[in-house]
Amino acid sequence: MKRYEENFDKILQRIEKARIEANEYNIVNIIAVSKYSSADDIKDLYNIGQRAFGENKVQDLKLKALDLEDLPIQWHFIGRLQKNKINTLLDLSPTLIQSCDSLELAKEIDKRAKIKNISVDILLQVNSAKEESKAGVYPEYAIETYLNIQENCSFVNLKGIMSIGAHTDDKKEIQKSFEKTYYIFEKLKQNGAKYCSMGMSSDFETAIKCGSNMLRLGSTIFKT
Ligand SMILES: *Cc1c(COP(=O)(O)O)cnc(C)c1O
Repeated sequence: MKRYEENFDKILQRIEKARIEANEYNIVNIIAVSKYSSADDIKDLYNIGQRAFGENKVQDLKLKALDLEDLPIQWHFIGRLQKNKINTLLDLSPTLIQSCDSLELAKEIDKRAKIKNISVDILLQVNSAKEESKAGVYPEYAIETYLNIQENCSFVNLKGIMSIGAHTDDKKEIQKSFEKTYYIFEKLKQNGAKYCSMGMSSDFETAIKCGSNMLRLGSTIFKT
């Protein structure tokens, strides 16, 4: 048995159970968050079938992407993005930048993408629980910001929204924050939103119940 296989199987079973209970037609994408893991860890997970990985620092993504450049890994960026790192990130051809948290940042990405003549897939990060420690637009501005980005940034493709669940042990509060995110996602479907990225190691079953179709799982996958 490979190092992560047994644990990963258990997680897949939990996801599948929650998915079928919520909506059997919903496809749930799994992003393995490798920010605390090494290139070797990533390779082990790759070898049991995982293709999408998430990093929250441009420098770490770069080192791991270079280390693993022979593998067709889909890289997701999920952390705070500083303006002076945008070019470095774009040169790594990330599959999806999930953490665009303002019109201003979208414009900066757009400007650089235009120069490189590439188009960049992004999600708008929404701070549904309105926590000061978190990035993201507040839910009441999410739709307006989304539409503004679509109108002003022709080199970025908005693919949906991303949110981190409320930081609390109170399951009801966590669920409320996911419901709020899903409500925004539903409204944005008519504007092309495809992904509702929510749910981490501690709350992914609740997120699936609330309509998530993209989970970002780190510690629960990589624990041994
Ligand atoms: C670290 C991180 C995750 C994964 O967290 P775990 O609790 O380890 O699953 C997901 N999303 C973001 C934005 C993160 O920074």
